[in-house]
Amino acid sequence: MPDPGYYDFPPFRPPNEAQSALIRITRGCPWNRCAFCAMYKHLTFERKPLEELKKDVLLARKIYGNTGTIFLGDSDNLVHKDLPEIVAFIRKTFPEVKRITAYARAKTLLRNKMDFLVASRKAGLDRLHLGLESGDPVILERLCKGATPEQMIKGGQKAKKAGFEISFYLLSGAGGKDRWKEHAEASARVLNLARPDFVRLRTLTVQHGTPLDDKLQRGEFELTPPLERLKEVELFLENLDLENCYLASDHLTNYLWAEQNIIYRGVAGSLPDDKPEMLEMVRQAIATIQSSPIPVKDSNQLYREGFLSGL
Ligand code: SF4
Repeated sequence: MPDPGYYDFPPFRPPNEAQSALIRITRGCPWNRCAFCAMYKHLTFERKPLEELKKDVLLARKIYGNTGTIFLGDSDNLVHKDLPEIVAFIRKTFPEVKRITAYARAKTLLRNKMDFLVASRKAGLDRLHLGLESGDPVILERLCKGATPEQMIKGGQKAKKAGFEISFYLLSGAGGKDRWKEHAEASARVLNLARPDFVRLRTLTVQHGTPLDDKLQRGEFELTPPLERLKEVELFLENLDLENCYLASDHLTNYLWAEQNIIYRGVAGSLPDDKPEMLEMVRQAIATIQSSPIPVKDSNQLYREGFLSGL
């Protein structure tokens, strides 16, 4: 139980919620088993009691004042039975707010009754960020994601039916060196069926202390090298068939460096209109790597050299 004088900031939020007021509804992750994830490993999952939440919301009003957007932590607030009531209380306390978003798991969406999802949406929760990571069943199993591609599709579709905007995170490089093609094609297939409003690319950066790092050390997993990772993005884009969707690469892990120079920052744009331009950008980066006399480094190399942290 936190000290009453202490504001319980969520430790993580999506990059595009950097300007948002942050309110923590739960602590930790009820799944907490993904092999690549270090986010909440040290926390025992907790649902915060409603009365404590209301106090937090009033304190958040004092800390943030007027705000346009609010993000609710931590990783899966749809497991909290009081979510509609607390979202309604947040809307009442922050009448000017334009958007409230939260992370969610596809499995939890499937487990929840439609009435609960609709009530959460009607109370004012607008958008859900879902970690797809990959559309390939073998990769999801390896990552211990706890959901199949079909559950990801159905979870996304159910959220859309309840009225939410959905944003899917895709983990570039999740297939490793041996499955980048399967990763690209299967991920595009899942997204084409789930029809998200946003797709966000992050690049797998294997962090110390995670189960995936253990596999890497034992030689049971091989990272996708920068060139193959770009070919994976190219193949993914070629297979992606979405409309009214914005694709973002709003994370530093997507960058590639040649010595001090950033040679690739990731692609972004509206689908389908900006797809040719995004493909062109990836192909140019592929040509740059193929002709570069200097070795190209990605987030994994920089992380291991000690130049990147807090991912
Ligand atoms: S990736 Fe998401 S679902 Fe998986 S352990 Fe981390 S926070 Fe939980």
